[in-house]
Amino acid sequence: MIFGEPTYVDVILPLPLKLKFTYQIGEEHLAKAIQGCRVAVPFGRSKVYAGIIDSIHHTKPDYELKFVIEVLDESPIVSRKHIDLWQWIADYYMCSLGEVMNAALPSSFKLANETYIVIHPEWDEDTSKLNDAEYLIIEALQLQKRLKIQEIAQILQRKTVLPFVKKMQELKLVEIEDEVFERYRPKIRKMMRLSPGLNSETAITLLNTHRRSPKQEEFLEQFLLEPKTEVPFHQFCKRYGFKTSYSKGLVQKEIIELYDLEVNRLEQEQMQCAPLADLNEEQQNALQCLKTTDNKVNLFYGVTSSGKTEVYIHLIKSVVDSGKQVLFLVPEIALTTQLVSRLKHAFGDLVGVYHSRFGMNERAELWRDVKSNLRFPIIIGARSSVFLPFDDLGLIIVDEEHESSFKQQDPAPRYQARDVAVFMGHHYNSKVVLGTATPSLETSYNVNKGKYGLYSLKQRFGGFSFPKIHIVDIAHAYKRKRMNGHFSEALLMAIQDTLERGEQVLLFQNRRGFAPQQECQSCGYVPHCKHCDVSLTYHKSTHRLRCHYCGYAEKTSTNCKACNNHDVKLKGFGTEKIEDEIKGFFPEQVIRRMDLDTTRKKDAYENILNAFEDQEIDILVGTQMISKGLDFSHVGLVGVLSADQMLNFPDFRAFERAFQMLCQVSGRAGRKKSESQVVIQSFQPNHEILKLVESHNYKDLLKDQLVERQAFRYPPYFRLIHILVRHRNRLMAEQASSFLAQAMRTVFEQRVLGPEYPALERLKGYYQKQILLKVERDLSYSDSKQKLSRFVNGLLSHDNFKGVKVRVDVDPF
Ligand code: ADP
Ligand code: ZN
Repeated sequence: MIFGEPTYVDVILPLPLKLKFTYQIGEEHLAKAIQGCRVAVPFGRSKVYAGIIDSIHHTKPDYELKFVIEVLDESPIVSRKHIDLWQWIADYYMCSLGEVMNAALPSSFKLANETYIVIHPEWDEDTSKLNDAEYLIIEALQLQKRLKIQEIAQILQRKTVLPFVKKMQELKLVEIEDEVFERYRPKIRKMMRLSPGLNSETAITLLNTHRRSPKQEEFLEQFLLEPKTEVPFHQFCKRYGFKTSYSKGLVQKEIIELYDLEVNRLEQEQMQCAPLADLNEEQQNALQCLKTTDNKVNLFYGVTSSGKTEVYIHLIKSVVDSGKQVLFLVPEIALTTQLVSRLKHAFGDLVGVYHSRFGMNERAELWRDVKSNLRFPIIIGARSSVFLPFDDLGLIIVDEEHESSFKQQDPAPRYQARDVAVFMGHHYNSKVVLGTATPSLETSYNVNKGKYGLYSLKQRFGGFSFPKIHIVDIAHAYKRKRMNGHFSEALLMAIQDTLERGEQVLLFQNRRGFAPQQECQSCGYVPHCKHCDVSLTYHKSTHRLRCHYCGYAEKTSTNCKACNNHDVKLKGFGTEKIEDEIKGFFPEQVIRRMDLDTTRKKDAYENILNAFEDQEIDILVGTQMISKGLDFSHVGLVGVLSADQMLNFPDFRAFERAFQMLCQVSGRAGRKKSESQVVIQSFQPNHEILKLVESHNYKDLLKDQLVERQAFRYPPYFRLIHILVRHRNRLMAEQASSFLAQAMRTVFEQRVLGPEYPALERLKGYYQKQILLKVERDLSYSDSKQKLSRFVNGLLSHDNFKGVKVRVDVDPF
């Protein structure tokens, strides 16, 4: 640095603007200013942002400059190479570098005066105590997880909301997110032992002095046969077919006692890293190939329960031993507690988990560790962990690569983490492994083209056979009045059999809530959201109709709002309804539900999954949450209540997704045994996709679907860009979208589709119209995007279309 000569820095700011922001830097800060460090800079009239120094130079732009206020870091938090990756993401997904930075940085690296409010983890979920304003905020939080103070002001339509928020804080309804840190909640297991002072003999003598039932005697005798003096209560009951109630009398007579034991997983794991499992021959072959292949990107195609995870573990070991870092990407971190504990079991505290539910400071710490390859060479994380500043990345594993949750919808960058991972493989020169039992069509297409390597596991580990799949024709069953609620006789019988064998049941219904809509039987009126073009969903636990998009809620009424008729009925069904019905059929069993509504509280997933693993639950009802990657030993039956919603979904991927979903959820059955079954109920029992699922036939799915995709000009043969034009005024939305589509047609011609109204014409008060751009794979994608950008900017700066918003989504799936 030449002292005396004014020095300037170009700064990346967390804004959706593609301009460069140049600031002058005073001599007092010069020594600390290094490319990759954060600086606090003024912006606009009164704002201060934290940005990152992109470059340092002496070229003064010809406008008046502001000064850097402060250099915030001692050393850079990102490298040049890393910023280059962000830039690639920004270019590819058509957003600004600042937006990528904003998504990438843990929030404690940001200066923004943006405080987030979240639901207090100890809130008792009793909505009856809330006043209207509190209810509105809680509803919104249940949908969006966190809200900014401004958003709260918007919802309540008030200017000053701080006193209100403060009151909600005092009532322990909400808390400020900064205060959130991962509270350690031990796992609790119910245990059983003899009451103090008793031994086998005195226990029996004591029982003989009381009135007793044969069941109690049997229960006690069985217990006394156990090799251990303290046994897990629920497992014991399950194993010998005892009802938990048999123990009641014994507890009252003070012969046995039940107590809670803290099971401290983490500590056990940290003490010892278990030796790695020996791989079978198929696994060994796959491992060897994955280790030695020259292919940068590889599909690791292993049927459900084939032991992919064990192969990953061996592969990770070899990379970590060579001193390099590993990124293990998973679709939804909250659902992967099993996986995390398996990896921790193998690698102890070499494993870092990057998790949006972790505290800000922890995330910031982890960031710095990753940057200097200090503590955690193995990082498990959901999609946003692709933004971590890896120093020396050797391997990226994308587990369940077909999962749609790798794609971020909103806000920008609307990236697909699997695709970013593939680019990172090239960028960092690291190997990429895409693992799945049901590959996405894109990935298989790339394998067929020779771009990706392919290694497979074709057998279930332990040689167990796949579950038998039965498709039940419910159209027929309904006609013959052979349905009980939403259950066919076949499904009920299968549940009964499975429970009698002491095994567990998973019931899958991909929709939460009690019944999606309320419908008037006389005029057909269905209550709709005031702000969005969707019908409201009925929630039994709160007796409210709720919009699943914006959080709007209203009380249910017994008569129709349109015609005042009393005959209002619930139509359709969700998980809550299924839970309700099945409780009626099996009142003795422990039945739990797992969906967004039952898992809002921290640790809720873990608690349900742990209880299921310990066989404290007989039947678990759930949404797609229960389909992902779970490894339970005692699932004898998986029931799918209705395959039709999946098959009828209006999307070019519907069949692919339905196949993946049904195979994955089926894959939860019979992981440690051969006799297991899957019952799928459908109105279209002869549907081609169900036939393919029944015969586990991925090959034909791929073949058929690729033909369709080519014929109808969809990926992987064509690339899609989805453009949404929005305005509060309907006419403006129409005119602006027509203007844009017309402009686009001058260059892209018939590749432009629309504008059209999307399925949701109105969302959160905005009218929206969509335009779809389909570009052949062999045309230059970046060239097309540049042209599109110009048209979009043309619209945004047009005087006639003030207040119009445009959302561009590249590869929108
Ligand atoms: P996938 O990830 O392919 O669905 P998993 O890795 O979960 O399969 O393996 C299925 C089950 O088989 C797990 O319970 C796992 O512990 C067990 N398993 C797999 N490979 C081995 C091995 N080499 N040794 C012992 N157990 C194994
Ligand atoms: Zn709404």
